[in-house]
Amino acid sequence: MPTIKEELDRRQLLYSLLMPVMNLYVPGLDKGKGLYFLFVKSETRTPGGLLARPVLTSYYKSEHFKTRPYDPYNVYTSPNEAILCPDSFQSMYTQMLCGLQDRHQVLRVGAVFASGLLRAIRFLQLNWQQLSQDIETGTLNQKVTDPSLRECMGKILKPDPELARFVRHECSKESWEGIITRIWPNTKYLDVIVTGAMAQYIPTLDYYSGGLPKACTMYASSECYFGLNLNPMCKPSEVSYTIMPNMAYFEFLPHDPNSAGFTRDSPPKLVDLVDVEIGKEYELVITTYAGLCRYRVGDILRVTGFHNSAPQFHFVRRKNVLLSIDSDKTDEAELQKAVENASRLLREFNTSVVEYTSYADTKTIPGHYVIYWELLVKDAANSPTDDVLKQCCLAMEESMNSVYRQGRVADNSIGPLEIRVVRNGTFEELMDYAISRGASINQYKVPRCVNFTPIMELLDSRVVSTHFSPALPHWTPERRR
Ligand code: AMP
Repeated sequence: MPTIKEELDRRQLLYSLLMPVMNLYVPGLDKGKGLYFLFVKSETRTPGGLLARPVLTSYYKSEHFKTRPYDPYNVYTSPNEAILCPDSFQSMYTQMLCGLQDRHQVLRVGAVFASGLLRAIRFLQLNWQQLSQDIETGTLNQKVTDPSLRECMGKILKPDPELARFVRHECSKESWEGIITRIWPNTKYLDVIVTGAMAQYIPTLDYYSGGLPKACTMYASSECYFGLNLNPMCKPSEVSYTIMPNMAYFEFLPHDPNSAGFTRDSPPKLVDLVDVEIGKEYELVITTYAGLCRYRVGDILRVTGFHNSAPQFHFVRRKNVLLSIDSDKTDEAELQKAVENASRLLREFNTSVVEYTSYADTKTIPGHYVIYWELLVKDAANSPTDDVLKQCCLAMEESMNSVYRQGRVADNSIGPLEIRVVRNGTFEELMDYAISRGASINQYKVPRCVNFTPIMELLDSRVVSTHFSPALPHWTPERRR
């Protein structure tokens, strides 16, 4: 995505509005700190030599963020050195350590997306012994090697045996229900996005936080920041974002889920921001200062009302995304390609994949992709072994986009891909089920992604074997040519 220097000012402006809005609903946020788990990712260069990196990495590395003036409403427990450390383990470890040390001052806990906060909780589950050890002695684990981070933490850490005892006591309990409020008892809300694909994490967040409010404060993308939620303490299902008309030029493509699409006789008609109608769904089209022209972001929004004259939108969904665990967005074509590539390994066993579907399993942390396969084994004496199917899992992972592979390799935000082989005839049963619920036989298409409980139950009850990817796929910060 192209971007330009002045875009940072515009984004900064949007950020600067978040706390004044929050202050209307939650008083006293200037009396404590925010525990935010924020991370940078590695950078690369385009073939033309331009720097390429994720939008938030750009922001955290900018002077706007690094040398931000003191603001009592925006005091974070994490020092810049921890946020800016490119090694995700060291970054998370030190951010968690600082969060634990400041536990009574923490008034809000957050990450950008819900998946990031859950990853932090998982990290605590895996590392609380070492963290408590450091708190007890006031020293820093040798696994943190970054010199500037060690130096910075040296100034922050002090021995606190009582806190270490407390952390051990809470974390060694069998149940982690309400762990966030147990460890950070003054937390007033969770600051995480739980709209769109992130809604799948709401029950888990509620479990760990005892049902704390979840504030979805803003709506943004790499291409452009769009707007903010003027009622951030509302229920996730009621969240609407008010688009800020100064962020870009916004247009809207009417989206009719039942229409066949646009034809030569009925070309698309773009609607301006001022002309959108309440209740209607639109696809967002932006023209940005950085040079995107009438660019389709891929998000479908529904107009829910107006703030003065500015329309407010409910995020309905992203087009064409089948699977998403973290910031990965895997579409139908990518999944299809991955299945094709993996199924090549079955040829020598005279076996083919007759049908498949997928599921984003977020019950475990990190979540992972589950692919259901129905196989046609022509020679039962030579059917593919567990080892071969494991290699198929890896082959699928190798075919996924780089955001997926980065999540697997560098961020550990996505777990190993799993293939569940189902009994022959399962997909026919799936079709019978859909037809019994009113689907047309003519137009029935195998859903390439499922999450409806009865369908999941049907599929899971027919599983004959499960296989996990045995290794990490290939990923480097460099682009693949
Ligand atoms: P990225 O460019 O990777 O940052 O992804 C941007 C996309 O994430 C947007 O186009 C949306 O599909 C999604 N997204 C960002 N903010 C929100 C939000 N507040 N609620 C739902 N989806 C969001």
